[in-house]
Amino acid sequence: MTNRIKKLLIANRGEIACRVMATCRQLGIKTVAVYSAADAHALHVKMADEAVFIGPAAASESYLVGDKIIDACRRTGADAVHPGYGFLSENPGFAEALEEAGIIFVGPSAASMRAMALKGAAKKLMEDAGVPVVPGYHGEDQSLETLTQEAEKIGYPVLIKAVAGGGGKGMRKVFDAKDLAAAIEAAAREGQNSFGNPELLIEKYIQKPRHIEVQVFGDSDGHAVHLLERDCSLQRRHQKVVEEAPAPGMSLEMRRAMGQAAVTAAEAIGYQGAGTVEFIVDVANGLENAPFYFMEMNTRLQVEHPVTEMITGQDLVEWQIRIAEGKPLPLSQDEIEVLADGHAVEVRLYAEDPFNNFAPSIGRIGMFDPFADTVPTGRIDAGVQAGDEVSIHYDPMIGKLIAWGEDREQAIDALINLVSDTPVSGLTTNRDFLLRALKHQDFRAGDVHTGFIEAYEDTLLAKHVVSAEDYAMAAIAIVAARSARAHDDDPWSISDNFRLNLPATELLWFDAGDGELVTAHVVEDRQNVSVTIGDKTFAAKCAHLVDGILTFSQDGLRTRLFAEVDAAHVTLVTEDRTLTIKRHARDGGADDETDGPGTITAPMPGKILDVKVADGETVERGQPLLVMEAMKMEQTISAPRDGVVTGLSLKAGDQVADGATLLTINDE
Ligand code: ADP
Ligand code: ADP
Ligand code: MG
Repeated sequence: MTNRIKKLLIANRGEIACRVMATCRQLGIKTVAVYSAADAHALHVKMADEAVFIGPAAASESYLVGDKIIDACRRTGADAVHPGYGFLSENPGFAEALEEAGIIFVGPSAASMRAMALKGAAKKLMEDAGVPVVPGYHGEDQSLETLTQEAEKIGYPVLIKAVAGGGGKGMRKVFDAKDLAAAIEAAAREGQNSFGNPELLIEKYIQKPRHIEVQVFGDSDGHAVHLLERDCSLQRRHQKVVEEAPAPGMSLEMRRAMGQAAVTAAEAIGYQGAGTVEFIVDVANGLENAPFYFMEMNTRLQVEHPVTEMITGQDLVEWQIRIAEGKPLPLSQDEIEVLADGHAVEVRLYAEDPFNNFAPSIGRIGMFDPFADTVPTGRIDAGVQAGDEVSIHYDPMIGKLIAWGEDREQAIDALINLVSDTPVSGLTTNRDFLLRALKHQDFRAGDVHTGFIEAYEDTLLAKHVVSAEDYAMAAIAIVAARSARAHDDDPWSISDNFRLNLPATELLWFDAGDGELVTAHVVEDRQNVSVTIGDKTFAAKCAHLVDGILTFSQDGLRTRLFAEVDAAHVTLVTEDRTLTIKRHARDGGADDETDGPGTITAPMPGKILDVKVADGETVERGQPLLVMEAMKMEQTISAPRDGVVTGLSLKAGDQVADGATLLTINDE
């Protein structure tokens, strides 16, 4: 029986909410957005036909409250809910509540979700269905004694996982028996805090693995197909960063075998809708004939689904909606394999600082235009635009950039161009790091594995060096921005750099870090700017800053880059670098916020999870002091120097504000 969906409520936010709405628009389905207090002006709210306010910023009081979503359906007459990913997407109780309310859930049955919800139980089920699983322990007995014995049996290194974990959280590698107890404690706590379940499993840690997953779909007639594989091996902290389809170097036989295992997994639980079966492949001896093991099944649409869409030409959200309406699978396995064409690569653009251990960053987005004209082979899925705030409340992903090519080389080149052409300012992002990864020769050669980023951190994570030329460009941007503003102003008001066309000279200062200042001597003669820094002079002709693009000529060579100037910073974005240069006020001092040595402040707002030292205790450099949760990530704050802890009055559960003083380390 089919049941047409006329109005769909999207119980999510950000890029995935916008992505689902785009398909609804094409299918003529009306859309309803839900939003929290933090999202009143968000893109997904603007895009929807209707929107319902569902509570405070904290997801636990808004996006995660099933009753509020169901109430929003009643108020708007929505006949179906798409959960996106995260939030309620893998919550069987929510799927059941919708069913009871007579609302269609665009996703699998509650029973399928339950079967796959816990990694341990899912592995057992797959073992029984004859699908290979990673060797390890996934039993009920959680005593330290049993876990220690099992780890011993498996043999180190092992990986501990929270059975309810996801998004790379609740996982700890252990290389040595002496570290096991501490890792168990941390993983169980992360499992409890993030997923409400402290239970763990232990697996053999595969030293050189690739993450290859298979997109599956099942319909209500009990048929299942797969839409080929994706390789998501480029990860940081077990979270995907670069994804592609098909997997580089995959043989036809292996694709068939893995595809068949995935379809078997889906059929074993009578799966309906979109799902992903994740495998880990041990490539210690190369990919050919490498053993692969079931890792987990994600019973929802995956973040990286666009690469599959690009190589198959199918709209996976449309498939999801049609199947939820009770229609059969639109294509057979053979038809899908014939359709597959070319290669697609995706990168996840995150508000985070790769050069500072990938710490999440927050702030207001300056430049970012996901809707700039992209070439037909490029695609940007974003849920934010210039002026939007990236807050501590939700996942720090800004968006996804995806490109297609006839082959892998072409797809990577197209993606490099797309990322180069997508500047972001106002907060720290991983853009430059993504470019380095895409350009890395081993990645280009298809030699990927999950340890890639760690293996090449020297090159991938080397900090940018800011040269005299960069400071000169910042000075040129300041002058060009001022002159652009003067032109924008009311023509009758005299701007302060109206100088009867005489060259004007001035000094500009930049903060080079560590208390060092860079002084730029600037001579400005209309659009010509000459900047001297130390013994180097840069003469720029015809400098203009229009719509965020700075252009100037030097020795007849025209330079073009993205630039943004405000009172405190100059952001310059070139093809491969994003530089935020701090301006220094003339009166000095204002930016001089050097804390006394050893004063530790909160790197961002968050919650204290654990206090590892006592006030008055003597500590050594590098010793863990506090465990803090910020932006859904656990962070350990360690002592920057030897000394005695003073002024520590925090306890687990305390909330701390950005920049709050946590404690001080004094000399003994
Ligand atoms: P996997 O679950 O295998 O990592 P995806 O990367 O597609 O597959 O999953 C993204 C999922 O993880 C979503 O449910 C998303 O909400 C969640 N997620 C991603 N990043 C985080 C994070 N930093 N904290 C919590 N959940 C996250
Ligand atoms: P999540 O639900 O957080 O996505 P997964 O079980 O899918 O958890 O694992 C996430 C990532 O962790 C994998 O993509 C892989 O990089 C790594 N990983 C998982 N299991 C193993 C293992 N047994 N050995 C080595 N790496 C693993
Ligand atoms: Mg996973």
